[in-house]
Amino acid sequence: MVSSRADPARTSPCEPVMTRSTRPTGTESEEPHLRRAVCPGSFDPITNGHLDIIARASRLYDTVHVAVMINQSKKGLFDIDERIALIEEVTADLGNVRVESFHGLLVDFCKQHDIPAIVKGLRAVSDFDYELQMAQMNIGLSGVETLFVPTNPAYSFLSSSLVKEVAQWGGDISHLVPPPVLEALNARLRQQ
Ligand code: ADP
Repeated sequence: MVSSRADPARTSPCEPVMTRSTRPTGTESEEPHLRRAVCPGSFDPITNGHLDIIARASRLYDTVHVAVMINQSKKGLFDIDERIALIEEVTADLGNVRVESFHGLLVDFCKQHDIPAIVKGLRAVSDFDYELQMAQMNIGLSGVETLFVPTNPAYSFLSSSLVKEVAQWGGDISHLVPPPVLEALNARLRQQ
């Protein structure tokens, strides 16, 4: 699959950060002992590939922040609130996932929430060059570590853009996205 490595806005350094939390679990200063990680991305929409990484991270950390990147220069199929609502719905059973939006530097988001680790899925070797650069930049900027999780082979070709493209032409994507996402995608594509 083709990843969006070339998109510089994808969890890449840009401007200062602002976030909105939709499922607050208390302020970070109240819970200094918690181990936190962030799974960043555009999630337009969340796929089973994303969900697999988030679920695995949620077993390793006390709290997993899913940070939905706001990219003002790129209009998605779903707006940020819709993406957040879908992620919240499909991660609700994990119990330790917070979904927030952010724009700007991911490391500023990490600083703001006292998060020492970024968890990313590595789909193929083609992801590696860009992800390595990002990881090295992020640790250099702030000391935030990046942990790479090998993608479940069932999802190694999967990206949000591919899912949207296939759905647009009537292909079956029911095994690639959670049911609420399938429903939302079909409804959105019917409107277009
Ligand atoms: P895309 O539009 O390529 O799906 P996102 O920016 O939403 O990408 O993805 C954010 C992150 O989620 C990626 O950097 C990667 O770490 C992870 N990810 C995306 N798709 C998959 C997948 N199929 N398997 C594992 N991890 C994935």
